[in-house]
Amino acid sequence: MDILQLPSLPHVTPIQQAWSVLEAAERSALITRADDRPTLITGRDIAAGENRGLKTLADLEGVRVPSALDVPGLDVRAYSAEDGWWAPALDALDEPALRVHVERTGLGGPHREMEQDARLQDAINRILDGLGEDVALVGMAPGAAILMSRHEGGVRDLAGPPKACYCENPDYPHEYDDRRTGDPCDFDDYSVRCRR
Ligand SMILES: [Zn+2]
Repeated sequence: MDILQLPSLPHVTPIQQAWSVLEAAERSALITRADDRPTLITGRDIAAGENRGLKTLADLEGVRVPSALDVPGLDVRAYSAEDGWWAPALDALDEPALRVHVERTGLGGPHREMEQDARLQDAINRILDGLGEDVALVGMAPGAAILMSRHEGGVRDLAGPPKACYCENPDYPHEYDDRRTGDPCDFDDYSVRCRR
């Protein structure tokens, strides 16, 4: 099991600002809400958006993320309109142990102890089983979201900052750690642009 906190930003956020948030948070993805549904946006998505001249997170496609709110039987309408909807969602799921943990640590707190708590692991597995998913959002509030995975390492590739450099391919920017702006991409005819 893995638990990872990601930044959560309004969909009106300019993509350059979203990039700065990723760097500051040392995460390579963030959560936004499109049509009131949680969506995962990666550093590569942002680079592609910049390459296409797009402006805000709402312009990016991203990937829809299953959340605890999708568990069958839960009345999503009662919660999804509220900014702080993670807490009532956990109440509705009747997962008090999980809610107590999230309240105690806050969305920014350490989750190591959570990963070692068998009751919490059971709660998370029940949510994932209910969704039929291996990765899902367990909580989301303005600024932060908690992603959980059934398997060890399931969200590890999102931990750590985004790559420093991407090529200017508008569809699929290739990523690099060891290039300079203006270097050619190894995979296409675009050049590389670095953000730090
Ligand atoms: Zn490329």
